[in-house]
Amino acid sequence: MTDERSAPGTGGVLVVGGGISGLTAALEAAEVGTDVYLVERNPYLGGRVAQLNQYFPKLCPPSCGLEINFQRIKKNRRIRVYTMTEVKSVAGAPGSYQVTLATKPRFVNASCTGCDACTAACPEERANAFNFGMDKTKAIYRPHEHSFPARYAIDMDACSKCGKCVEACSYNAIELGMQPKEFTVDVNSIVWATGWNPYDPTKMTNLRFNDSEAIITNMMMERLAAPNGPTGGKILRPGDQKEPASIAFVQCAGSRDENHLEYCSYICCMASLKQISYVRAQYPEAKVYVFYIDLRTPGKYEKFREKFMADKNITFIKGKVADIIPEQDGGVTVVAENAVTGEKVKQKVDMAVLATGMEPAMKGAAGAFGVQQDKNGFIVSDEEKAMASAGCAKKAIDVVTCAQTATAAALKAIQASRR
Ligand SMILES: Cc1cc2nc3c(=O)[nH]c(=O)nc-3n(C[C@H](O)[C@H](O)[C@H](O)COP(=O)(O)OP(=O)(O)OC[C@H]3O[C@@H](n4cnc5c(N)ncnc54)[C@H](O)[C@@H]3O)c2cc1C
Repeated sequence: MTDERSAPGTGGVLVVGGGISGLTAALEAAEVGTDVYLVERNPYLGGRVAQLNQYFPKLCPPSCGLEINFQRIKKNRRIRVYTMTEVKSVAGAPGSYQVTLATKPRFVNASCTGCDACTAACPEERANAFNFGMDKTKAIYRPHEHSFPARYAIDMDACSKCGKCVEACSYNAIELGMQPKEFTVDVNSIVWATGWNPYDPTKMTNLRFNDSEAIITNMMMERLAAPNGPTGGKILRPGDQKEPASIAFVQCAGSRDENHLEYCSYICCMASLKQISYVRAQYPEAKVYVFYIDLRTPGKYEKFREKFMADKNITFIKGKVADIIPEQDGGVTVVAENAVTGEKVKQKVDMAVLATGMEPAMKGAAGAFGVQQDKNGFIVSDEEKAMASAGCAKKAIDVVTCAQTATAAALKAIQASRR
């Protein structure tokens, strides 16, 4: 593996996106002897799964699933990995695509050992995007504790170029003059595994995300509960760091709504139930309120839902949230109409978690590369074009289903590369 291990060759499969779906597609193709280029725009692999605290169904930390894949990638010389890299253009035809890739400078080369001397020397700080801005890193940073490759990067928007990191580095790993690169690879087929972004919570103006630090998104909750997150894993209200005695989960925040995301994001009900388990582990007596349109926990996930519905400190309210009102004491009041009783509910809580849905990362951008998309921006596999989609680039799904779609995409890509 490693970004600069070997020069690009010809043939094989390009996998765009290094989340769980892209990793799976790349490994499945490479392990049957196909050459693979895996490109990822972040400085690390793993995608959104790396940001989760635990993942269902087993509630294990993301490192247990990702680490196995990283080991397989390290061992497999058929996979060339390019981080901080995106597709710039696609030319040619199915079976013989010339894809131009653009790599942003990391400013840290492969000699980096991760010793951390540079961050101690760096005087500048930046908002930590990995933790949704809830804490800061130095301008030179490791993206997260388990990031792979385990190499640092510099955010030049925050860097003053003082050179203190260069002085502190004993390995000549820092190159402040590193330049962007472009290069072209010849491939037979392309797998799009570009995943998803959280739907922008500020678009639901009634949910007042910008008006109170007590209102967070479900992905922020993952980071708050994670041991390598901004609070070391303690769920605290951002801003005043209060231990919450009551939390509301606002389901379908933007989902199943034709003004926002018209589809169901499939995992949000499961994600909120999982997050209630995080709350329960830390605050056994906390009151939890779940506002929902209907709870969708298909198949084996039903048992998970039943367990939480039996908890006397959790109230399930069938009703779409109309408003969230910030309160003087730092909490919020959640307003909804109970669809069963017809009553107006006003529930004061210490924190509210918006279960925002998943929006395809390539929405609006994929057309430039000849990629077919449905009306919501999800990528449609196109056998004629030797382009397949995998994971949440294809539809909103959980990790297990991502692995299935990625394996299927790898098979289609291999077939196209052997025609
Ligand atoms: C709050 C929440 C909790 C969840 N919890 C669970 C859970 O417990 N269990 C579970 O099974 N699922 C869970 N999910 C769903 C899970 O996160 C997804 O199934 C999974 O992230 C999909 O993986 P992916 O590889 O398809 O996409 P991503 O994880 O989004 O990975 C896509 C990768 O592609 C990269 N990329 C995007 N565009 C480009 C480009 N143009 N060029 C290069 N690279 C690009 C991205 O940087 C990213 O690294 C949860 C989702 C949410 C919202």
